[in-house]
Amino acid sequence: MVSLKKELKKPKTKIIATIGPASSKKTILKKILKYASILRINLAHGSREDREKLIELINKVSEEENRNISILADLPGPKMRIGKIEEPISLKRGEKIILYVENEKDNISEETRIPVEFKDFTKIVKKNSYVYLCDGTIKLKVNEVRKNEVVCTVLCGGVVTSRRGINVPGAINVSIPTEQDKKLLKELEGKVDAIGISFVGCREDVERVRKLTDAFLIAKIERDVAVKNINGILKAADGIMIARGDLGVEIPIQEVAVVQKKLIMKANLASKPVITATQMLESMTEDVRPTRAEVTDVANAILDGSDALMLSEETAVGKYPVEAVETMAAIAKLTEKYRNELSENRVLNLIKSSCKNTVDAITLSIVQTMNCIDIDYIIARTRSGKTARHISRFKPQCWIFAFTTNEKVRKNLNFSYGVIAFNLKDRDDKTIVDYLRNEGISGKVILTEESRIDEKVRIGTNTIKILDI
Ligand code: PGA
Ligand code: MN
Repeated sequence: MVSLKKELKKPKTKIIATIGPASSKKTILKKILKYASILRINLAHGSREDREKLIELINKVSEEENRNISILADLPGPKMRIGKIEEPISLKRGEKIILYVENEKDNISEETRIPVEFKDFTKIVKKNSYVYLCDGTIKLKVNEVRKNEVVCTVLCGGVVTSRRGINVPGAINVSIPTEQDKKLLKELEGKVDAIGISFVGCREDVERVRKLTDAFLIAKIERDVAVKNINGILKAADGIMIARGDLGVEIPIQEVAVVQKKLIMKANLASKPVITATQMLESMTEDVRPTRAEVTDVANAILDGSDALMLSEETAVGKYPVEAVETMAAIAKLTEKYRNELSENRVLNLIKSSCKNTVDAITLSIVQTMNCIDIDYIIARTRSGKTARHISRFKPQCWIFAFTTNEKVRKNLNFSYGVIAFNLKDRDDKTIVDYLRNEGISGKVILTEESRIDEKVRIGTNTIKILDI
């Protein structure tokens, strides 16, 4: 059973920590689990054996600590990468370089040669296309496309190291999931709770993955077509991630903030959890303190309505993985208190004006009741998690305790803002209230659930009770 006392010390914003060499030790994991609710395994790196060991370790530590943890495995998708290079290569503005997929024999070119791990690379670039290396920091222009290599001029220089990402904006045209993704899905089925789908383009991409797994599906929005097709993607996926790393190269970087705000709003309206990801506390990879701009970015992402925030390099390979999680939690806890004061609840206003079904009406009544009476907790009995997610989208000030009989639903609710979910076999009100009292919970609560007239006919959540417990 989850330790409620420990969960209540976390912020309501769910923290996702990417686990890598800097954090895959028991002592570090224990400290990360104090504030993180989701651990991400990036499948772009590591072997099958590494993954198995890591999943085993995570399960062991979270059990020992009575922690409520979901594992998110992130598929690589059609991400192009630089191949293995012996030493970092420094590229200077104006220099001519060659990106090659296969080294031709007797090649004695003067130019710097950089390997590319994507065999169709020469097919997707054209003369005059722009190619970005290392998350967009290095910009190249294509001069000539040959059989196995591409000649480029460096427009913005920098240092290139092994395995860094390559982007050619708008060029991805392969179907998702890739063959490699399919293999990974098979390997991980039943071992992880959620799957991140990289470079989703449309709802069909998500639907194809759905056929291959039972996991909770997070569509990563990191291409311009995905932004265009967001309505369909939100219907097909269980949640979305604003993957600002690749997104900021695939679309003009100045659009990132606006796209972030629009996507968060759409996800909130659809009652699907939304994760804001990448570079949130980037400088903490090297330094123990974040920049002011990063602190502000974290706070703004929360006020925008994010359900979860993600740490990548900060916890995977950074020098201060524990401090990064602690810093994010501290910013989140403080910022959440000021939500009502600082951000207009646009989701609430939009639902008010378009409310047209029972779950909208009931969840709207819950948040409106909170304006009349001081409510300490919301309790939702939920079969699929839907009721809890529909309350969570309004980002209420108090915690939402979700009771479900389905373990998978409990794990999925880890992605939703302010929700702490429990798996309770016995479902009557008294058992729930007794359980909470035992955990030291008291105060005024709103309890919402389904009340049936005919035991055989399901009607969904349809009642609200106000109780003192
Ligand atoms: P990645 O996804 O770290 O797997 O690339 C996140 C992003 O692109 O921002
Ligand atoms: Mn990405």
